[in-house]
Amino acid sequence: MSESFDAVVIGAGFAGLYMLHRLRQQKLSVRVIEAGHDVGGTWYWNRYPGARCDVESMQYSYSFDEDLQQDWHWSERYAGQPEILRYIGHVADRFDLRRDIAFSTRVIGAEYDEPAARWAIRTDKGEVLSARFCIMATGALSAARVPDIPGLSDFGGQTYHTADWPQAGVDFNGLRVGVIGTGSSAIQLIPVVAEQAATLTVFQRTPNFSLPARNEPLAPDYEQHWKANYPALRQRARQEMRSGTIYDYSTRTARDTSDDERADEFEARWSKGGANFMHAFKDLLLDKASNDTAADFVRAKIRTTVHDPAVADALCPTDYPIGTKRICLDTNYFETFNRSNVTLVNLRTAPLEAITPTGLRAGGQEHTLDAIVFATGFDALTGSLLAVDIKGKGGLALRDKWAEGPRNYLGLMVHGFPNLFTITGPGSPSVLSNVVHSIEQHVDWLANCIAYLRGNAVAAIEPQQEAEDRWVEHVREVAHTTLYPSAASWYMGANIPGKPRVFLPYIGGTNTYRRICDDVAANHYKGFTLARTGS
Ligand code: FAD
Ligand code: NAP
Repeated sequence: MSESFDAVVIGAGFAGLYMLHRLRQQKLSVRVIEAGHDVGGTWYWNRYPGARCDVESMQYSYSFDEDLQQDWHWSERYAGQPEILRYIGHVADRFDLRRDIAFSTRVIGAEYDEPAARWAIRTDKGEVLSARFCIMATGALSAARVPDIPGLSDFGGQTYHTADWPQAGVDFNGLRVGVIGTGSSAIQLIPVVAEQAATLTVFQRTPNFSLPARNEPLAPDYEQHWKANYPALRQRARQEMRSGTIYDYSTRTARDTSDDERADEFEARWSKGGANFMHAFKDLLLDKASNDTAADFVRAKIRTTVHDPAVADALCPTDYPIGTKRICLDTNYFETFNRSNVTLVNLRTAPLEAITPTGLRAGGQEHTLDAIVFATGFDALTGSLLAVDIKGKGGLALRDKWAEGPRNYLGLMVHGFPNLFTITGPGSPSVLSNVVHSIEQHVDWLANCIAYLRGNAVAAIEPQQEAEDRWVEHVREVAHTTLYPSAASWYMGANIPGKPRVFLPYIGGTNTYRRICDDVAANHYKGFTLARTGS
């Protein structure tokens, strides 16, 4: 006999926890299933040294409860991983969420029973749970990826992945450490590990654009300003902002601004720190010539920071527009390459050949290492969804349906898979936004949708084929009005060998996206088929 619920939610990060809270308010029976031993998702797994958010703390937090946002105190402009994890734990305690969560349990399959209009959800513990609604809160960046490098299993030292970091931490003192990758995770980790390790060798395939975070203790007057105006500021983020984050969006184009004014604008934003730099002009991600002005500015900063011109040269990205691979924020990243114990290995000129029992070989040279850190990223957006063997109507496998790339309606539901919802999945703004903001928008929409279905005795909801086709085309079309598809990024699936090259998130803006989703709901779920008895 399987246990039966109104809803099963998979994942207990920001998304799964808020989903549980909202469904409980409707008195639904809910079970959350989480592979980790506790809540936190990203912030549970990514415990690497230096891990922190790069959306300001006052904005990278839940907005759904005024008391919660008034009571919580963030200590820094950008919160570090331990503080974010404490915050998520506090939310779980405050709303008594853990009692409905099965930890240390992984969902391996989910199958739709069409006549019953219910999902059968299988776990690695051999249980099968039955639920009307199956909600994938599995995370857009949670399927960590270790590349297939020959010899990996022969390595005699320790290996780590940034997204599966030991809870007890790692002591790198006196060790010869290698880091593979130079994305956001590596860029945060490298300066911290460099201070501990005897030597640090950074293996870089593609250099990244990184901006100074200028993290600092949270200024009391800044916190006070936010807390005094939280409802209005959150509303502004929802209604007006393209990323769900309040930035200083410019109305000017770089193209129509004089060289001196442009340089001043970049300099002012560089000095303040943060991703606000990328909003200096409204055409930076639309016009290559404008983009070049920002890229040149950052490259000049790299060259003045890094003492060795050859190392500086290798650290300068040249083959994609700035911002089209996820922009990084750092604290002393480029400065770290001036340290005598840090070496950069450029895998473009010295290709990675193999991991050996004692280290790593690149370009014919052996690098002796005691520990290797894989900062090699994720199978983003689709990885954690397709890791589960999901079968919809007629036994259709999601893996087959998405063989050429993800297809869904509003990034929320898939034709052929009734009552299966994805939170911040492909086709939604997700990773192009303040993700907590996008999570709240998805969860609120979904909770309202479920209330509507129950109120109208609807057993199953499913997107129509034409609505899905139109949305997939819209997502593609909007992406191709920007410079984004020109980079071989994880947004395009380019980091995973064999993954279809499709721009995965929706780039139309969180404000526009919210209006589209609200309009669909207001029009009795336009584009969806609602079935009163089964499907
Ligand atoms: P997650 O936090 O990824 O949670 C998903 C959970 O689902 C995980 O705990 C996982 O164990 C569980 N799970 C997955 N599959 C299964 C399964 N089959 N069975 C059981 N459990 C499963 N976003 C920002 O907006 N700003 C930032 O500054 C920022 N910084 C980031 C830094 C790092 C290092 C990383 C990796 C991501 C960052 N992100 C950031 C994105 C971040 O993922 C989101 O902000 C947010 O935390 C996602 O929450 P979530 O609940 O959707 O997913
Ligand atoms: P990532 O951006 O995908 O970076 C992975 C790095 O590993 C890249 O430099 C990549 O090089 C390299 N790599 C992968 N496979 C390799 C191989 N076989 N050989 C050599 N190098 C290889 O992953 P991430 O740094 O974990 O970041 C992922 C996302 O998580 C970010 O973009 C961001 O959205 C989020 N994040 C945010 C923060 C934050 O500041 N708040 C911090 C960490 C993560 P190529 O570029 O050549 O593929």
